[in-house]
Amino acid sequence: MDIHLHNTKTRKKELLTPVTPGRVGMYVCGPTVYDRAHIGNARPVIVFDVLYRLLRHAYGAENVTYVRNFTDVDDKIIARAEESGREIGHITAETTEWYLEDMAAVGALEPNEMPRATEWIGAMVEMIEGLISGGHAYAAEGHVLFRVRSYEAYGALSGRSVDDMIAGARVEVAPYKEDPMDFVLWKPAKAGEPGWDSPWGKGRPGWHIECSAMADALLGESFDIHGGGNDLMFPHHENEIAQSKCAHPEGDFARIWMHNEMLQVEGKKMSKSLGNFFTVRDLLDQGVPGEVIRFVFLGTHYRKPMDWTEKKRGEAEATLRKWRALVAGVEPGEVPEGVIAALADDLNTPSVITEMHRLAADGDVAGLLAAGHIIGVLTEELGGWEQPRFVEHLGLETAMNEGYATWIDNLIKKRTNAKSAKRFSEADRIRDGLNEAGIILKDGPTGTEWEFGADVDISKLEALK
Ligand code: AMP
Ligand code: ZN
Repeated sequence: MDIHLHNTKTRKKELLTPVTPGRVGMYVCGPTVYDRAHIGNARPVIVFDVLYRLLRHAYGAENVTYVRNFTDVDDKIIARAEESGREIGHITAETTEWYLEDMAAVGALEPNEMPRATEWIGAMVEMIEGLISGGHAYAAEGHVLFRVRSYEAYGALSGRSVDDMIAGARVEVAPYKEDPMDFVLWKPAKAGEPGWDSPWGKGRPGWHIECSAMADALLGESFDIHGGGNDLMFPHHENEIAQSKCAHPEGDFARIWMHNEMLQVEGKKMSKSLGNFFTVRDLLDQGVPGEVIRFVFLGTHYRKPMDWTEKKRGEAEATLRKWRALVAGVEPGEVPEGVIAALADDLNTPSVITEMHRLAADGDVAGLLAAGHIIGVLTEELGGWEQPRFVEHLGLETAMNEGYATWIDNLIKKRTNAKSAKRFSEADRIRDGLNEAGIILKDGPTGTEWEFGADVDISKLEALK
C-alpha cells in the first residue's frame, strides 16, 4: 500500500519509503508532565494515533514502532513542585497516569515505547559529549551550549535563516553564550533542584537533547516519521535536527516531519484569561463521551486549524449514536478501499467521514464498522455511552411505551443477526439477558415477538448491549 504524507521539511506530499523495508519507526514529542492535558494537547495524540493505526494496518502491528516520550524534568515541573510543596516524583507520576487515562478515554492506543526523560540521562550525556568533541558544542559556567553556527542547515525545517530567527525569536542573551542563538544542552542544578552528575558538574539536560537522545536510542540514527504540533517546529524541532545531524552526520534523523495545526475554541485561541480553557478531563466529567471528542477532532484535517465548538460536539454525538445503532451485533468487514485511499492520502480523515456517511446510507454496515475501527471509533472500548437512560429522560410511562420498545427491538435485531452469523453464544447471551430483565421472547415463523413480563428490571435491561 502506498502511503503519502506531507513532509514539513520539503513542503510536499511524499511517498513513505521506510528506512528498513517493511518496518516503520515513528517518534512523536510527548507531554511535559505537571498538569492535566488540555483539549489542544489531545490533537497530536489523536492525529498520530490515526497514523499509527494506518501503519499497523499497512505493515502489520509487529512492524511498527511508535515512540512518544514523557518530559519529566523541566523548569515548569520544578516550579510546580515549589508552589505546591509536593515532591517532583509524585507530581510527574500522577500526571503521567492522568495523561494515559485521558488519552485512552479518547481512544488512543499506547505507543510501543514511552521513555521518560529521567531514565535516559546517560544517553543524553553521551550525545552531548560527542557534540563537544565534534566542535558543535561547548561548556561554559556549568552549562553546555549547542553552537548553532556550526550547523549550516539550521533553519531548513521551518525555512528560515538564522538571522531571521534571531530577529523573530525570544533568544536568551547570556554572558556564557558565544552567540545568542546557541541553546542549552545541559544546565547546572541550583541548590534544591534535581540534578545528575556529569562531566560539567551536577545538572540537568535541556529539553531538546531529550528527544534527540531517546529517538536515537529507540529508533536509530535514521528513522521514518517525526511528529508534533506545529508550535514545536521552531525552536524545538530545528534544535533536535541540529543535535542529531551533528552527532550522527551519517544518519538522516527523521525523514518525514509531520506537524498538526493548533486547536482553538469557538473561533478563539484557547487561553485561561478568555475563560475558554479546558482539559480533556473537564469534558469527560461533563459527560462528553471520549468517542465524541475524538470524532470532532477527526472532522478537520490535521494540517488545518481546528475549532472545537458545541455545535460540532452535538452533531458528532448524533452521528455516532446513529452509527452505533446500525453496527450493533455486526462483525467488521474489510476496510473499504475508499477509506484506505483517503487515509493514505496524508491522513484525510474528513474524507473518511464522508465515506462513512455513504457506507451508512448504502447499508454497508460491515464496511462502516471496519472504517470506524481504523480511525479508532465505533470500537468496543469507546462504546457504552450511547445506551439509553430512558426513564431519566422520558419519565417512566413514556419510557415503557416508547424508549424501551425500540431498545428491545434493537437487541432482538442484534440477536437475529448473531444467529444468522452462527454466533450462537452471542445470540444466547442476548436472549438470556432479556429474559433476566423480565422480557418474554416468543420465536415464531415470522421472527421474534416480545412482551413485558410481570417483573421488568430496568437497570438490567439498560445494561444489556
Ligand atoms: P506541551 O506539553 O505544551 O509541550 O504540548 C504537548 C503537545 O501538544 C505538543 O505536540 C504541542 O504541539 C501540542 N499542543 C499544544 N497546544 C496545542 C493546541 N492548542 N492545539 C493543538 N496542539 C497543541
Ligand atoms: Zn521533541
